[in-house]
Amino acid sequence: MKFNFKEEHLIIKPYKAKGGVYVREQKGFYQQVRRNIGWLLMMMFIAMPWIQFNGQQAILFDVVSQEFRIFAVTFWPQDFILLAGVLMAAAFALFFITTWLGRVWCGYVCPQTIWTLAYVWIEHRTEGTRNQRIALDKAPWTMNKISRKSLKHICWLLMSLLTATTFISYFVPVGELYRGLFGFGSSGAVTFWVLFFAVCTHVNAGWMREHLCIHFCPYSRFQSAMFDKNTFMVAYDSKRGENRAPRKRKDDPKALGLGDCVNCNLCVDVCPAGIDIRNGIQYECINCGLCIDACDQTMEKFNYAKGLISYTSEQALAGKETNRFNIKLVSYASLTLIFTALVVFAIDSRIPLEANVIRDRTALYRVNFEGVVENTFTLKILNKSQVPLHFKINVDSLASSEVKLDKKVLIGAGVMQEIPITLAIDGYELKQKITTFNFIIQAIEQPDIILQKTSVFFRN
Ligand code: SF4
Ligand code: SF4
Repeated sequence: MKFNFKEEHLIIKPYKAKGGVYVREQKGFYQQVRRNIGWLLMMMFIAMPWIQFNGQQAILFDVVSQEFRIFAVTFWPQDFILLAGVLMAAAFALFFITTWLGRVWCGYVCPQTIWTLAYVWIEHRTEGTRNQRIALDKAPWTMNKISRKSLKHICWLLMSLLTATTFISYFVPVGELYRGLFGFGSSGAVTFWVLFFAVCTHVNAGWMREHLCIHFCPYSRFQSAMFDKNTFMVAYDSKRGENRAPRKRKDDPKALGLGDCVNCNLCVDVCPAGIDIRNGIQYECINCGLCIDACDQTMEKFNYAKGLISYTSEQALAGKETNRFNIKLVSYASLTLIFTALVVFAIDSRIPLEANVIRDRTALYRVNFEGVVENTFTLKILNKSQVPLHFKINVDSLASSEVKLDKKVLIGAGVMQEIPITLAIDGYELKQKITTFNFIIQAIEQPDIILQKTSVFFRN
């Protein structure tokens, strides 16, 4: 008997999950990998603000005092050029990963995906399996429905509040934040931002889910420019799968004129993006691999070889070899390494000291009663380190000079201090009317913190 394959199966349908996606919970290798990565990243996100370093919060982006502390290094607004380097390195790393492995960032590491995974996990525990959730949504409002929905939203809300307070604790010292929140003493701004991010998390991970990825995330749009025939993506092997149709386990598909797809629809039910991968590669696909787990499970039941849906490349599907070292991939990898090396070098050679020299604007010079020429300056010194330091200030390139200043200036961590300085020089020692020289500022406790600032000395 030949199976009568329905032609509608070949029609490529557009994305249609407008009524909401009811994700079926799926077990399997890729789901386990996603869960492990998700839990690890979530735990890191929650734990990191609590880590202390040298008696201070190790990671703190203090917007009010404009200090961005990451363990031993404090960044200031003047260091934002480094951020450009970090973003360039991150962008090329993302291009490299996407060209090589498609949208694995979206499927495994993106916070949107991880939080959605956690919220779906809660949904499954409170409202039941996919079919039970569909039935519950269609059912009238009974006590059972109200209690299940309420329990889900209470859990979601707790998770949203935890997420929001954790996020804010990267910007407000963690002790101060929680003392304020639990003691009802938080400022209006802090309370507003905690509630704002709690609502965003709740709406995003609870309802928006794949809509955010499909309609708002720019990355899903420009990713296709990075794909090529060698990119590993989740794909359905239509040559092997078609003609698709249900059958009994003992049926011989060849005799029925069928391929290996039994049309169980599990690959669609588990898809968090609500797509059917059998329709071909689609930009909504986040490369999460859940449909692979689902399909492998079905293949196992029917005693067919696994891999009807798999991570593969267009080349491999066409029976050709995948070229992993193509020029695009090598270029992205090289640029990632170059920008990473530049950022590491810049951070390593960065001096935690900033200084500016301002000349006295009221007079270029003064001649005192002994005939000595005086020039007055103000030195603005910012101690960008995490500890108070004593600084000594000297000048060079002047014939002889006397710095009318205490030998040591103590400047607190993160403090900008103004130091008035008068240089007095016998005018005959200077050949020219204008002499260029340097102020040399050096930390006594850490002599490698040293900075040179150029200025000019005027005589009559
Ligand atoms: S098609 Fe497969 S890999 Fe793509 S999003 Fe859906 S389940 Fe994930
Ligand atoms: S899970 Fe596999 S067998 Fe089932 S419908 Fe999808 S591709 Fe076909």
